Amino acid sequence: MSEIEEHRKKIEEITLEMIKLLKTRTDISKKIGDAKANLGMTVTDEEREDALRKQVTKLCKEIDLDQSTALKFLNLLLNESVKVQSDNKQTHLSMFLKAKALEEEGKKIIHLEVGEPNFKPPKEVKTALEEVYNKGYGKYGPVKGTTELRKALAERTECEFENIMVCPGARFAVYLAITTLLNPGDEIIVIEPAWPAYKDCALNAGIKVRTIKTTLETKWEPSVDQINNAINENTKMIVLNYPNNPTGKILPKKLLDSIIQTAKEHDLYVLSDEIYENYLVGKTKEEWEVKPAKSILTYGYKKSIITKSFSKSYAMTGYRIGWAIAEPSIIEKMSKLQALSLTNVSEPIQYVALHALKADENMAENYVDDAQAETTWDDWLHHLVESAKDIGLEFIEPDGAMYLFAKTKHTNFDATKFSEKLLEHGVAIAPGEGFGDYKEFFRITAIYPDDMREGMTILDSILKEL
Ligand code: PMP
Repeated sequence: MSEIEEHRKKIEEITLEMIKLLKTRTDISKKIGDAKANLGMTVTDEEREDALRKQVTKLCKEIDLDQSTALKFLNLLLNESVKVQSDNKQTHLSMFLKAKALEEEGKKIIHLEVGEPNFKPPKEVKTALEEVYNKGYGKYGPVKGTTELRKALAERTECEFENIMVCPGARFAVYLAITTLLNPGDEIIVIEPAWPAYKDCALNAGIKVRTIKTTLETKWEPSVDQINNAINENTKMIVLNYPNNPTGKILPKKLLDSIIQTAKEHDLYVLSDEIYENYLVGKTKEEWEVKPAKSILTYGYKKSIITKSFSKSYAMTGYRIGWAIAEPSIIEKMSKLQALSLTNVSEPIQYVALHALKADENMAENYVDDAQAETTWDDWLHHLVESAKDIGLEFIEPDGAMYLFAKTKHTNFDATKFSEKLLEHGVAIAPGEGFGDYKEFFRITAIYPDDMREGMTILDSILKEL
């Protein structure tokens, strides 16, 4: 056998051995996952992972192997474990689907689990929908969006139209940013509790998620130390979402300044999901601009990507349209995957969105045209807060968004089991485990107060049975 053939054989043997080991690893990982689920433990154990990371770093030094490559490989293995162990987690989406199935069977459900503004889109949307056909909109178009819409969005956010890309919803913009800017084995920091899609997008693309756990006791604020401790040479991005889903939190300005400063020092991308920008409690948008609710755009940081949407701001969730704001070089990268996967956002919907922008900014107040919506969404949130206080839930009053993230006074409360039981009684809520390591918490959406009160009365009566 020639020398090269001998080496090839050896490499093949090692590869096959690695595949066998991978199978054994997956089987054991599944067993650990089942045991953790039985014990109510979380999937990810950051301390344990850190200890393993240290061992890998030490080993790399001993055997003279590139540390960054080894750590990326470790991240892929850790991600595999997270994937096999996360299968049976209940999220707001899984509860919504269960609730929908019950509705199809004829059951009445009060939806406190999903974030749907329950007022109609502005009347400009109705007119535009009627015009679309006759005006001949409905052709293929530019991947980043129509020039008209991009220009209108740029004008409103005080940036250039090259900074804008129209996407089918902020969700897709988030997916594009995470998957095109990061590579498998890279790391992303997510501050929890968090909307689950950030983690899921990363996991799907082989990107390691480093979660920062915040607590009710510390008012859902991360510390800069926590962030610094989570950063290593493979960290490439931090995700921010304020006003936050699910807590409604807006970070104090100073803390936000320090987080951006830290991101700059470590050359991280900042993905700021600002889809609740118009959902600010008790103050006008102008007041919030100078107070804590700063858009990340105002920092002028070149590695930031801001996602916004028509979904909540214009009550257009089902129209599926949102946009991203970033440097043209970032937009270019993101647009390549958008072109590959969907050619362009529906032209008629872009036309409709353009006209939605012409509606008065002060959305809910102007859009109401049915009896249910005499009150605005912040009244709904206010009523929800009052109702939750009345029944003794524990939470921080939201600064914005459309939710309340609460726990009860019961010890060892299992919010997932509670959500399932509540659904049997016709009320859907979102279990906290969908937003991170928050098994005792649940998220309630602010909806029309009469419906909300009916739901909260049922929730209270089930709680009292526990
Ligand atoms: N980001 C956050 C924080 C959300 O809560 C949601 C929807 N619930 C989205 C993005 C998705 O927005 P869109 O409908 O524009 O895809």
